[in-house]
Amino acid sequence: MTTEAEPASTAILAARLPEEIVTAESVPGPVHARVLFQAAHNRLCGVEARQFRRLLDAHRNLLHGRNAEVERTIRDPAGNVKLMLRLGDGVAVETVVLTDAAAPGRGPEPGPPHRQPRRTLCLSTQVGCSMGCRFCRTGRLGLRRNLTTEEIVEQYLAARERLGPLSNIVFMGMGEPLLNTGAVFSAARIFAHPHGPEIPFKRITISTCGIPEGIERLASESFLAQLPGARPRLAVSLVTTDPMLRARLMPGATKLAGGAAGAAAALENLRTAVARYLERTGRPVTFEVPLLAGVNDGEEDAAAVCRFVDSLPRRDRCDVNLIPWNRVEGVPFEPPTETAVSAFAARILAGGYPVTGRFPRGGSIAAACGQLGESVSSVTTR
Ligand code: SF4
Repeated sequence: MTTEAEPASTAILAARLPEEIVTAESVPGPVHARVLFQAAHNRLCGVEARQFRRLLDAHRNLLHGRNAEVERTIRDPAGNVKLMLRLGDGVAVETVVLTDAAAPGRGPEPGPPHRQPRRTLCLSTQVGCSMGCRFCRTGRLGLRRNLTTEEIVEQYLAARERLGPLSNIVFMGMGEPLLNTGAVFSAARIFAHPHGPEIPFKRITISTCGIPEGIERLASESFLAQLPGARPRLAVSLVTTDPMLRARLMPGATKLAGGAAGAAAALENLRTAVARYLERTGRPVTFEVPLLAGVNDGEEDAAAVCRFVDSLPRRDRCDVNLIPWNRVEGVPFEPPTETAVSAFAARILAGGYPVTGRFPRGGSIAAACGQLGESVSSVTTR
């Protein structure tokens, strides 16, 4: 089952690929469409801007139009920022920019160290979420609606305008991105486009609670003709390999993946979808484990995660990301101790898998993993 209905919103040029602009806006040709796309993303040089001034003037409304207003900006001393955006129909979403001093190997996207601090934009894809994960604030809200491509791209524009260039994008804010694949995949194309933001796909991550059908779509989707075979990275929130515990912690994901066949089938269907993804694409997969004290943070739990990954093809492409759980008011879990996190990480490493740890960032402004949703729960729909 997927939820794909998109509410109406005014198209903005920044949220259309050049080939969409050329048909929808009746521009004279592909060069003009490319120029409009570049202008929408501030990628036009002065000479081109002078050459195409009339074209840009004619499309001024779409170039500068917005459907979302930034209502609040909250910063913490470490440079993490949460933006609350009010959308055209009155609902609100949150988007977060996490600043990392860029120690190599930290975070969900292992890679070379960057000279500049890494700025990761965590995007929301739905207003609320239907998955109801027990450890997540957004999951307590239920689903209001999907975001459109425009509304996802506008989170990026709002963050970039206020904070400057963004190095990484994760679809890991409010909502389950693989239940809104149309808008999410379109936004990913825009972000990676060579004439647009040009953020490499290897630095764009789609994080899912484990929707087999969505994982299959990610594997089979063609993203950009200019970058054949390239696609966003996949991160799967595994949490635990105990089917019954996973069903209790992640009831929505279990129901979608397993249907009437139940919890064990759900985990097996997820395993099969990830195995096919690895075989088909050869692209890396990150397994995320939010660690909850006394629930899934034992060394035996870590050993079970290793066995799960052992069962996959191309397991050399797999790594594990540990996310010490962040407190959410009214949610009856506790963060793990540092000792437990270290022991868990050591066991994953001993199993032969790279392990990264997401150190709690943004917790003081309720911007860390699992904490989003304040603006949705505290505002009324116009
Ligand atoms: S963890 Fe993700 S999928 Fe689960 S309820 Fe929260 S937003 Fe939804």
